[in-house]
Amino acid sequence: MIVNLSDSWIVQLHQNILQGKEKINQRDISFFNIDMIEQAARHTVLHIENCQQCKANKDILLQLSREFPEKLNTISGRREFSRRLDTVIKHLRQAHGIYPKGYFTGLYTFSGVILGGFVGWIAEELHLLSMYAAMVTFLGLGFIAGWIWGQIKDGKITKAGKRLDSELKL
Ligand SMILES: [Zn+2]
Repeated sequence: MIVNLSDSWIVQLHQNILQGKEKINQRDISFFNIDMIEQAARHTVLHIENCQQCKANKDILLQLSREFPEKLNTISGRREFSRRLDTVIKHLRQAHGIYPKGYFTGLYTFSGVILGGFVGWIAEELHLLSMYAAMVTFLGLGFIAGWIWGQIKDGKITKAGKRLDSELKL
């Protein structure tokens, strides 16, 4: 993915975040996922030309990058910060297929376990297996199948440069 670093607002946002980080503690930086602002910005900039929402989100992200140290001082500010950042991330996901790291692994593993539990319950109800055997078998299968499927899908997202996370250096 090529990000045009001459886009001055990205540079400005990066500076804002660096400065802001010095004002808050390390725990809040990771808890509130401050690096996500920049990650979201780096994906947003790619769609600004063609997407009205991304254009609007640019201002939200810039504002967040300036205001986060202050926002995180109060409970209502924290809530507002998370809500606004989530809105931008949700848009990137729904409109542009950008997903956080491990998104599908988490989702499919969870779904696999639920489905496996359900199939196991049916197997037990039909007296095909004991409750214990049914649960061990189908919960296990659901977990493994969901995890593998999720890993494959997440791998494709990463390869396509559509992963949203702070470890990924662009
Ligand atoms: Zn957009």
